[in-house]
Amino acid sequence: MMKSLRNAIMLIVVALVLLSSSSLSRPAYVPAFGRFAVLVHDVSPAYLPQLREITAVIDEYGLQNETYLFVIPNHGGKMPIWKYREFIEFLGKLRREGYHVELHGYTHIGDEFNCNASTAEKKLELGFRALSHLNVTPRYFIAPRYALSNDALSVLLAHNITVIGEDFIYLPKGTVEPVYNREYTWYTPSFLFPYELVSAESAYANINGTFFLSVHPRAVNNKAGMEFLREFLGFVKERESSKGALELGIKLAGNFPRPFKNEDLRYS
Ligand SMILES: [Zn+2]
Repeated sequence: MMKSLRNAIMLIVVALVLLSSSSLSRPAYVPAFGRFAVLVHDVSPAYLPQLREITAVIDEYGLQNETYLFVIPNHGGKMPIWKYREFIEFLGKLRREGYHVELHGYTHIGDEFNCNASTAEKKLELGFRALSHLNVTPRYFIAPRYALSNDALSVLLAHNITVIGEDFIYLPKGTVEPVYNREYTWYTPSFLFPYELVSAESAYANINGTFFLSVHPRAVNNKAGMEFLREFLGFVKERESSKGALELGIKLAGNFPRPFKNEDLRYS
């Protein structure tokens, strides 16, 4: 009884997700990111233990190259990263393992990048200087709370930085494209875990563009959040490797009437 009820709920969830994702504007495939990227927000010395826990899971699935760490250079105006040796060492090690180190505002106080051009220029300069302690020149930027003025956006693009927003990506050459960027682990209570997992998996299966998975330390560091991360990264990994094998098989087999999609196997 309980089991059939649960199955019915799952079916409804899948139907709802399919419905809602079919009405999405087609998210872009951003070649620099490929099919999948993990965006870790709020990378700050304040969350070092949580970040260790998150990256341990990412390491398990070998997704270091797909993971972008968005660093707050001076969290709250009182945590300049260069004064936290352990944190700098941690980021340095991750970087050597293939993680990308990028910028997430400067102090993260309020909507700090909803500002005029000269303030944005100054903060960006300070951010560059902070990341220079890691020998990093960032290529990507996420504004704290995704709050960004047009002036600040222009400053970032002029510095050849790509800006990732909640629904759009802004490229330095001046183009704007819709993206699929979602967070499924914002202090998720355990009873929502199956729902979040099914939504994420069916969204992933239905989107041909780049899938950005946003994660916040602390918000993801509970039982349901970490379980989601494990299950979903495992799902992505398996899917991409079987797809790779399938595509290779098609190449070897020669001409098929149409590209054979993984979805054909899983959801028919
Ligand atoms: Zn943030």
